[in-house]
Amino acid sequence: MASQEEVFKKIIAHCKEYGFVFPSSEIYDGLAAVYDYGQNGVELKNNIKKYWWDSMILLHENIVGIDAAIFMHPTIWKASGHVDAFNDPLIDNKDSKKRYRADVLIEEQLAKYDDKIAKEVEKAAKKFGESFDAELYKTTNPRVLEHTAKRNALHERFAKAMNGNDLNELKEIIIDEGIVCPISGTKNWTDVRQFNLMFSTEMGSTSDSSMKIYLRPETAQGIFVNYLNVQKTGRMKIPFGIAQIGKAFRNEIVARQFIFRMREFEQMEMQFFVKPGDEMQWFDHWKAFRLKWHKALGLGDQKYRFHDHEKLAHYANAATDIEFEMPFGFKEVEGIHSRTNFDLSQHAKFSGKKIEYFDPETNQSYTPYVIETSIGVDRMFLSIICSSYCEETLDNGESRVVLKLPQVLAPIKACIMPLVKKDGLPEKAREIMNSLKFDFKCAYDEKDSIGKRYRRQDAIGTPFCITIDHQTLEDNCVTVRYRDTMQQERVSIDTLHHMISDAVNMKNLFKKIVS
Ligand code: ATP
Repeated sequence: MASQEEVFKKIIAHCKEYGFVFPSSEIYDGLAAVYDYGQNGVELKNNIKKYWWDSMILLHENIVGIDAAIFMHPTIWKASGHVDAFNDPLIDNKDSKKRYRADVLIEEQLAKYDDKIAKEVEKAAKKFGESFDAELYKTTNPRVLEHTAKRNALHERFAKAMNGNDLNELKEIIIDEGIVCPISGTKNWTDVRQFNLMFSTEMGSTSDSSMKIYLRPETAQGIFVNYLNVQKTGRMKIPFGIAQIGKAFRNEIVARQFIFRMREFEQMEMQFFVKPGDEMQWFDHWKAFRLKWHKALGLGDQKYRFHDHEKLAHYANAATDIEFEMPFGFKEVEGIHSRTNFDLSQHAKFSGKKIEYFDPETNQSYTPYVIETSIGVDRMFLSIICSSYCEETLDNGESRVVLKLPQVLAPIKACIMPLVKKDGLPEKAREIMNSLKFDFKCAYDEKDSIGKRYRRQDAIGTPFCITIDHQTLEDNCVTVRYRDTMQQERVSIDTLHHMISDAVNMKNLFKKIVS
């Protein structure tokens, strides 16, 4: 069986071969951690965004959207804390000249201890069979206890260093743990330094009138600085939310794992403004809602877990991640944060404007508290592609690669195929295509054998293949072939629209979420 690493490589190759994701500027040898979405990728991406947008805007009377500019006044990033504190600790290996995030090196070391513990338990489970009690083993076996003690000590030291921004201690930990550079294999490390992740550029044409501005590292600030505009013009009453989808930019130190960590990416963020004191109740509400949104896609409930933050950002009083099981482990796809009134208060302070809410019921004014849900479109895309990619061996010994995408998200919903390129079949096929194309993205394919055409559609995740043959001209029926089961069924042309609509309508997912 292929290792997860091999599977991931195949997925990346598949994304390129079938027009989902290309390395950016490829003919110039690419640009690190920047990617372009191809003809199928952009459809999948747009469908993900629509699923998110409609789940916010259609399902909630009290959530509205905005589309703020990427360029914003530079003081915004001073107020938000990003100029001073949006840093990652970096460390270089002097031999390989490779750069790493010090915190990530230590997290990987922690994961190694976890792996060792899991392996011991697994080995014992095999040895002792059914009567094995894993919990008892973990608390009594000397080897497991030794690993656990080392792990916990490291964890405690790491958390303390991170919370205290103690860069020397981070380096000491790396030295003490004997962590080596995976490239050079040496422990020849530089000191740990802080590195600001924001990209900057100049705005203005003359050197003395130009000012340094930043490419936004998150879309949220565009929402906060428009809070008053939207609240007033939309006559919004608390609690209410503002949603936005847009590009964000971070000069990530280590860009890895394909589209998981990019330097230019897209976020879908919603800031929900609540009365101070109500934030924990809304934090729980949004945690539950967002998990339901993920699970409704049917990728497998066991693939999600919450990971509560131990180190809270300077603005947060509670935070959790929704993690998804990628081929390289459980990883953050979405963050849900209780941001207090930090951002609005800071913008009030730095802009000199009063940013408050007048509560007509209590006749009092206050600065609202905020619950944020923030999800990366690209990470969501990756989680969907990874869990949909299947290699199957068929009964006849042949194999196929199929993307079992959630049908609502598939780039192409149906492929229309005349069995042969003559006898009036293409004309009939075009007629069917024309009747479906207003509602569904369809493809038309008349080249090669039907088997080859099926394989092409399997590889991009098209749920329905519709074949027109000679009999169609007589009985007005076509053969529908289903992607996942490969079963074929003869159906009347009149039922096609209804059948596809039933399978790909987002309404069905929304009903699951609000039930
Ligand atoms: P990480 O710890 O992985 O760097 P983060 O905690 O900094 O992520 P947030 O600031 O909470 O991320 O951003 C919200 C969401 O934006 C993340 O859950 C993720 O889906 C997405 N995101 C953040 N950074 C990147 C990136 N470099 N590339 C792609 N998506 C990203």
